[in-house]
Amino acid sequence: MSHNAPGGVPENPYHLERPLKVTLSCTQTCNLDCKHCYADCSEQHAAAEMRGEEWRALADGLIEDGVISLFIEGGEPFQRSEDLLALVRHCAPRMMTRIRTNGTLVTPAVAHELKASGLGGCLVDIMGASAGTHDRMTGTPGSFEAACAGVSALLAAGIPTEMLLILNRHNVGELDDYMALAQRLGVRKVGILRLYPIGRAKRHWDELALSMEEMTAALSALRPPPGIKLMQSWHPNDGNCCWQMAAIDPFGRSIGCSYLREFVDYGDVRDAGLLPTWDHPLYRTLRAGKVERSCGSCASSQGSHGGCRSTAYAFTGRWAAPDPFDATLNDGVDLRVLPDWLLQTGPRRPRPSHT
Ligand code: SF4
Ligand code: SF4
Repeated sequence: MSHNAPGGVPENPYHLERPLKVTLSCTQTCNLDCKHCYADCSEQHAAAEMRGEEWRALADGLIEDGVISLFIEGGEPFQRSEDLLALVRHCAPRMMTRIRTNGTLVTPAVAHELKASGLGGCLVDIMGASAGTHDRMTGTPGSFEAACAGVSALLAAGIPTEMLLILNRHNVGELDDYMALAQRLGVRKVGILRLYPIGRAKRHWDELALSMEEMTAALSALRPPPGIKLMQSWHPNDGNCCWQMAAIDPFGRSIGCSYLREFVDYGDVRDAGLLPTWDHPLYRTLRAGKVERSCGSCASSQGSHGGCRSTAYAFTGRWAAPDPFDATLNDGVDLRVLPDWLLQTGPRRPRPSHT
């Protein structure tokens, strides 16, 4: 695998005048209490979240600006079920609309309403193959059974539904069983995602994080059963996708990507919409994809380079640094150990000195 020399990595050849896909983190509240929660959910700031009518006005502006896909996540979006269903009814006929959820609040009636509204798909977080593992991660007894029931309700209603697992020390030993669970439930697509050092996950990092070797061994031993499509968020499957991403937090701030929620703040979208924030200097820099080092697989996978900018920044404090989750660029970084500054950073505090 050939590595580019420092400074020799070309900028991403793709350039978007405006975003085509937008993620809306609609709430920072949840009915579960996960150890790994990136949003660090609580009721503390619920009153400051955008109102349902603000979501719908925002969606109108996005559609007017050419956005074709809306991905709704939280927190747990169904915590605001009434507003959420109204938003889906409002958007789904005009753009691809999908929801990421913990599944526990999705009843058959809700699933049927989502289907009737034209929802394009759901992704349900299930953190292990058993109630023991999942409920330990969520801190909520009964959440595994409720999540599985949610998946079944969505599938029964005819909504394309995927299962997502964030790989960590508690579930790494049960990936085959997880695939079997997906098969039993009738799920056709499973995502195995890496753990990000943000929110509560970084406070539980010692307990949850795996080494590169442990993750690689688990993933290479995995044999998905026939009929199940596997998505993994490791190099080269997840190139540097900053060039195309846009995301809005529950308080109307433009943050580029949910995984950047603690590190950037590109401005308020509630008055003038998302497009003015698209020109923020740091946003432009990250979208340009200029990185210190890269490798051939990055370039061939997405025309983008150097891996994820969130983990690159989290581990080094440099936006252009190599992503240590990329085995070809890891340089001996122990992924189980976080830098001190990161642990001192509050969960919702942007770092304006880097903008
Ligand atoms: S289900 Fe998701 S949003 Fe809720 S606490 Fe767990 S990680 Fe956070
Ligand atoms: S921060 Fe990572 S996951 Fe998010 S858009 Fe950038 S490269 Fe993609």
